[in-house]
Amino acid sequence: MAVQTREQAVVDRVDKQLYIGGQWREPRSGRRLPVEDPATGEVLCEVADAGPEDGMAALDAAVAAQEEWAQHPPRQRGEVLRRAFEMITDRQEDLALLMTLEMGKPLPEARAEIAYAAEFFRWFAEEAVRIDGRYAVAPDGKGRMLVMRQPVGPCLMITPWNFPLAMGTRKIGPAVAAGCSIVIKPAAETPLSMLALARILEECGLPAGVLNLITTSEAGPVMEPLIKDGRARKLSFTGSTEVGRMLMAQASDQLLRISLELGGNAPFIIFDDADLDSAVEGAVLAKMRNIGEACTAANRFHVAAGVADRFAEKLAGRLSAMKIGRGTEEGVQVGPLINGETRDKVSELVQDALGRGARAVVGARPLDGAGYFYQPTVLDDVPRDARMLKEEIFGPVAPVVGFDSEEEAIAAANDTEFGLVAYVYTSNLKRAFRVIEGLQTGMVGLNQGMVSNPAAPFGGVKHSGIGREGGPEGIHEYLNVKYVAMNV
Ligand code: NAP
Repeated sequence: MAVQTREQAVVDRVDKQLYIGGQWREPRSGRRLPVEDPATGEVLCEVADAGPEDGMAALDAAVAAQEEWAQHPPRQRGEVLRRAFEMITDRQEDLALLMTLEMGKPLPEARAEIAYAAEFFRWFAEEAVRIDGRYAVAPDGKGRMLVMRQPVGPCLMITPWNFPLAMGTRKIGPAVAAGCSIVIKPAAETPLSMLALARILEECGLPAGVLNLITTSEAGPVMEPLIKDGRARKLSFTGSTEVGRMLMAQASDQLLRISLELGGNAPFIIFDDADLDSAVEGAVLAKMRNIGEACTAANRFHVAAGVADRFAEKLAGRLSAMKIGRGTEEGVQVGPLINGETRDKVSELVQDALGRGARAVVGARPLDGAGYFYQPTVLDDVPRDARMLKEEIFGPVAPVVGFDSEEEAIAAANDTEFGLVAYVYTSNLKRAFRVIEGLQTGMVGLNQGMVSNPAAPFGGVKHSGIGREGGPEGIHEYLNVKYVAMNV
């Protein structure tokens, strides 16, 4: 099939309506929401644009499905997920192309995200049958104590555009496994991957009403009434700290359980005893994965003063050799940023650092022409007061800052309100433990530039969020504990 025809066919196959109570339906208003290709700025297609009454219909459907789903045998709940894992894997090529079209990441990275997303279903298919409790004799020997876990109830989920599928599966997987029904709202920029996922879950036998999907251009007006309604008992959000803070306030009305996966400002620390080539390798991955648009992206490189310039040169060599272009083209490693606003923010942060005395080793300019491209950039000698050391860059820009001692490196790494992940490169095991224990983050990558793994608890501390996704911990976000005191 010709390239353009295949792209069109993949987009055409997606249901572009709302999925509520097992029905694909139009929004009450009949409004449509355009979806853009960030590599060209052209509209790919339009999807349903839900209003508040559609949101409420989705919540009604989730509430109606909750009890029966909770009663479903855990094995059956797990098997729906297992079948979906297989189907996503079978359709990896089409799903990857769809994701690249709506989000911009290069095809190999989209394929990797599809695999990563599917793994959450495989993992939680296995966890569904391992929900346990405990039994104990009370300390006084008289009573007995039983602890059981039950689904929290209907869940509200809101996901971002940067990982359009995986941010959904790592919420939907544990909720389905635990026996919870769902209303999910993907980002307005990237609704297509989630719509394709809803169809897959339907085909895999997920009963009507367990998953309800609304796409909308009015996130606030549609979601706030659902959060404040009281029938949903849990809110799980991935996105910016700013929006997360606001949603947490809304969730306090009905005291919903919350999981928040928020912004990051990851330090990447390289000691002079590290293998520098391996650190450069890790840095390329930690910085350039997803075009720098990842919450786990290395946001600042703290490098021992003696090797900082050498590291900056080597990293610049690697970044300048990367091919920039539309993510569907052969060999492209750097796609466009998601929109003009994101590109402008990256430009602004680079200009701010240069204005304060940073030195551009490579890049430092947006690309002219269609799409929202920015050159891979390395800045050396970035001064401490540069905004990019405090704010999330969300683009392909690597600031390098030197340090003189281990204490200084730890203090600089922790000098942020965020606390998602940190990367540490050293060959000294004792130092590795000292530094890891001193870092105020939810995750650490030791001598590796990527931490994401469905079998591990992903999440942050401080302003990076509350709760964990993935790993044995992930399902507990969707289970309440009930303790029974027994007089026997
Ligand atoms: P965002 O603006 O916070 O949007 C995230 C989601 O929230 C979107 O679905 C958005 O809908 C929705 N939203 C926005 N305003 C809302 C409101 N008033 N009420 C309800 N929902 C609302 O974040 P983003 O720019 O898409 O994503 C980037 C951020 O996500 C970064 O900070 C990144 O670090 C973070 N992130 C964190 C993780 C993690 O696991 N910690 C993972 C990935 C991304 P619309 O699309 O309609 O605006």
